Amino acid sequence: MKSMVPPFRIKVVEPAKVTTREERWQALKDANMNVFLLDAEDCYIDLLTDSGTGAMSTRQWAALMLGDESYAGSRSFKKFEETIKTITGIKHVLPTHQGRAAENILATIVKPGHVIPNNSHFDTTRANIEFVGGKALNLLCEEGLDMGSEAPFKGNMDLEKLEACIEEYGAEQIPFCMITVTNNTGGGQPVSMENIRAVKAILAQHDIPLIIDACRFAENAFFIHEREEGYQDKTLLEIAQEMFSYADGATMSCKKDGMANIGGFLICNDDAWAEHFRNALILREGFPTYGGLAGRDLEVIAVGLMEALDYDYQAYRHSCVEYIAEKLDEMGVPYLRPVGGHAIYLDAKAFLQHIPQSQYPGIGLVNALYIEGGVRGVELGSVMFGSKDEQGNEIPSELELVRLAIPRRVYTQSHFDYLVQVIGEVWKNRFVVCGYKMTKEPPFLRHFTCHFEAVEAARRVIPLRVRKTGS
Ligand SMILES: *Cc1c(COP(=O)(O)O)cnc(C)c1O
Repeated sequence: MKSMVPPFRIKVVEPAKVTTREERWQALKDANMNVFLLDAEDCYIDLLTDSGTGAMSTRQWAALMLGDESYAGSRSFKKFEETIKTITGIKHVLPTHQGRAAENILATIVKPGHVIPNNSHFDTTRANIEFVGGKALNLLCEEGLDMGSEAPFKGNMDLEKLEACIEEYGAEQIPFCMITVTNNTGGGQPVSMENIRAVKAILAQHDIPLIIDACRFAENAFFIHEREEGYQDKTLLEIAQEMFSYADGATMSCKKDGMANIGGFLICNDDAWAEHFRNALILREGFPTYGGLAGRDLEVIAVGLMEALDYDYQAYRHSCVEYIAEKLDEMGVPYLRPVGGHAIYLDAKAFLQHIPQSQYPGIGLVNALYIEGGVRGVELGSVMFGSKDEQGNEIPSELELVRLAIPRRVYTQSHFDYLVQVIGEVWKNRFVVCGYKMTKEPPFLRHFTCHFEAVEAARRVIPLRVRKTGS
């Protein structure tokens, strides 16, 4: 059994509340059975997201004090800009308060009827494009959709689908194409350098710009280093530089590989775009040298982006997910293989075979993990990605996943051992986990605020043994 070797020590600790099963049951009922509506302090291990939940380093905390809070032209912006230019080589750098704000500004060039291809759009990316009347297309490779495939780069874009898409809609209807590294929606799977290069080559023939959704660019660089021939002797920085050399721009949530609690950016090479984006930024986020962030946030991100490219850190980070994955293999628990970069994606369809997709098996599993052990995960299935036909009937999503995202530098190996124990308990008792129906549904991004109720017939069999866990 591998063990993880963290390239850090703990200097400050945050107390975590240990709860009982009955307390958790009550808390979840009070939250209308939607874990997004729980109080965070009632979640002993919070794997809802790896976004903005990381621990900062001593260097980042020190950098925070250097924040220059000048409204315009602050020193902190210069550091932020310089770091991003070093990594990406891209000309114009616009800070934003987080990733979706960068997407929102990028979407100001999307017109009704435009088509934006991606390997897989993240939910906020899709929402921003659809909100302005664009069509968000997922062109993920076949291996990415095959739960059984052990392919090394399951986040790749399907090149034939991309060519067919350009053929069908015409290049003038495609203002840009995106590629998400790593592919969060499809299991945190990496994209190979070869694929990025090939996507760029196709797009270049039609003058379509390539925008990288760069949230986990450093994790993707690590996968390329480990899995793609010819990259073993390169540093992660060099690999990232090559990735961005094929791009005309990028959106980024610095709450991921920026190793920060808030922040993002939009970058591009085109001068006219940059001018347009700056105006949109002033309207929505703030002056172009702070973009909705404090000077201290810009400092923290400048340090964090480089820390994310530290090889020892990435090796440790990946060993965390590998460690959990190996234990799941021993128990026979179904999850998306090979394991992704930032999370374990349990396969809820295979885990809870008795729950039909119309009753959201992902929600069944998320809620069972919470009741069992105070572990908060998130459904990436029909609630988050399902759509509706013209009659308003639900079209379920292709995959029903439950994501257990691993915050950066936060949990220890003993937390992961506890997590594995909780998953094991739910696995043993899986046949008594029930499905759910939605009782309240908002029009956009419904998963954040909708309410659920256990499906009537199954309600009585929710496991509710009285046992104290986590102590
Ligand atoms: C998190 C994320 C976003 C959005 O970033 P926020 O900072 O949450 O707004 C966009 N794309 C991907 C792939 C993400 O993981």
